[in-house]
Amino acid sequence: MPPAVHRPLRAPPPTAPDPQGLRVLRDLLDLVLVRACGGCALPGPTPCAGCAALLRAAPMGAVRPDPCPPGLPRVTAFGRYDGPLRGLLLAHKEQGRTALAAPLGGALAAAVADLLRHGPAGPAGPAGPVVLVPVPSAPAAVRARGHDHAWRLATSAAAALPAGTRAVRLLVPARRIADQAGLSHAARAANLDGALAARGAVAGQVVVVDDVMTTGATLVEATRALRAAGSTVVGAAVVAATARSRPKGPDTARSRAKGGVRPVRGPDSGA
Ligand SMILES: [Zn+2]
Repeated sequence: MPPAVHRPLRAPPPTAPDPQGLRVLRDLLDLVLVRACGGCALPGPTPCAGCAALLRAAPMGAVRPDPCPPGLPRVTAFGRYDGPLRGLLLAHKEQGRTALAAPLGGALAAAVADLLRHGPAGPAGPAGPVVLVPVPSAPAAVRARGHDHAWRLATSAAAALPAGTRAVRLLVPARRIADQAGLSHAARAANLDGALAARGAVAGQVVVVDDVMTTGATLVEATRALRAAGSTVVGAAVVAATARSRPKGPDTARSRAKGGVRPVRGPDSGA
């Protein structure tokens, strides 16, 4: 009989690194292997030169979902959730291409700057340092992905904005919510009501940030929770808005160039 081999009973299998190790491994693979661009599938780095240039373009500006949920503050988006931008966001969020956090965070920073330039904050609005608060993902989703994509984008965006801007993890899930997919606008709003809680309040101009806005219901809930705890929310900024959102405000050459439709006129709701 061969001698017994002593090994820890609960040693982790060598092929299952922890999420942090997995992230480092993915970053190394990005460096070593020739992979396709997550935005346009061109062989080479992510982002490729074309997609990197896209992320440095001027932001689309103010957007409003249609229908617009009550309580939505002013929202600005960098661009539309389609084409290369959609691919880049998915590669960052779902494929762990964490090197995309810096250029995508730069795009989010441009949307935040646009919000602060044209939003209700303005020269006569609330003062103080700008605080970016990301919409939190469910803990199980963060574990499954191996990284917190919204937090990564928020910290990258804060680093790209003027000194004094910071990201704060102020929101936490207050309860489990049902899968939003397939729910109507009203059902989404009901599903999300009370779903988030703020761990306190911060001084300054709070901007809710997220990667994508679909119906706006999540941004409404994030804004509600932050205001209930005493923070001053001046608006929200996202990297991309889905096609159901329309550019809002003056029909500028910039919004037409981005495929904008006719201007939407109407009061800000809840801002
Ligand atoms: Zn590309």
